[in-house]
Amino acid sequence: MQILDGKIVANAVKEKVIADAIEHKNGNGHTPHLAAILIGNNGASETYVTSKIKNCADVGFKSTLIRFDENATEQEITEAVIKLNEDEDVNGILVQLPLPKHINEASIINLINPSKDVDGFHPISVGKLVQGLETFVPATPLGIMLMLEHYQIETSGKHAVVIGRSNIVGRPMSILLSQNTQYGNCTVTLCHSRTKDLEKICAGADIIVAALGIPGFLTADMVKPGAVVIDVGITRVADSSKKSGFALKGDVDFENVAPKCSFITPVPGGVGLMTIAALLKNTLAAASTKK
Ligand code: NAD
Repeated sequence: MQILDGKIVANAVKEKVIADAIEHKNGNGHTPHLAAILIGNNGASETYVTSKIKNCADVGFKSTLIRFDENATEQEITEAVIKLNEDEDVNGILVQLPLPKHINEASIINLINPSKDVDGFHPISVGKLVQGLETFVPATPLGIMLMLEHYQIETSGKHAVVIGRSNIVGRPMSILLSQNTQYGNCTVTLCHSRTKDLEKICAGADIIVAALGIPGFLTADMVKPGAVVIDVGITRVADSSKKSGFALKGDVDFENVAPKCSFITPVPGGVGLMTIAALLKNTLAAASTKK
């Protein structure tokens, strides 16, 4: 069994981003700039955004964080997105999800200028992704593809099972894995909460991407010997031994599944780090297409 090490791959991606950002700056004097909008006090969202901002600094990008309290109106968020769309210095815009219930997520995402849509959630980005055209690919699935590429995981003719059909992870993942590219040449089964015989489907899989948000869901009896297992799940589970009071748990019962696998990602230290690296890569791409 080999660990798919998010730290190693993310660092490799970030080193390339640093070098390309320097070249970009030398070429036109402009520093890539990511703007993030954070609404409310969701602890996990706060952690993710803080990490994204810190990582921007690490690779020499500019970043702007715009905060709103939980009760911000949709109009206020709309105005902030429009302002960022118009700001020529800003290359990438992300609105940290989930949004408070009273704000229509789709309306806000659809407002983002597709040329700044570094999260790849805008319908134009999604449409291009489905058609196999160059576009911003959502950071988590893109990070996983970069990981498969780094470890040269064979996908041709393999059966991949993706558990979870969200717009940010499962669905784009299923598209990328079936897209007739070198590391996306699988036969894909997309499973979700209404899937019957999930255990049986998983047990036949060569590659499993678990992205449902239920800690320890994928157990050893659901995994065939030699399978590649990618754990996307990040759930905060109470743990009094930690200073924070919680531990991060993946969707895979790592201890029992790992010995059966050919490759597996840990949590933490796997997909989460790749998500950030992929976001930085998208931001640089957005800056590079800036006229
Ligand atoms: P989501 O809640 O939007 O979607 C969960 C999906 O899982 C749904 O499609 C649902 O149908 C499916 N599901 C739920 N219960 C199921 C069951 N019993 N059997 C089969 N399918 C089931 O979640 P999401 O935003 O896609 O995130 C999934 C997990 O990945 C969460 O733990 C989230 O925190 C994590 N996540 C991690 C990263 C990262 O960078 N590592 C990024 C995004 C999300």
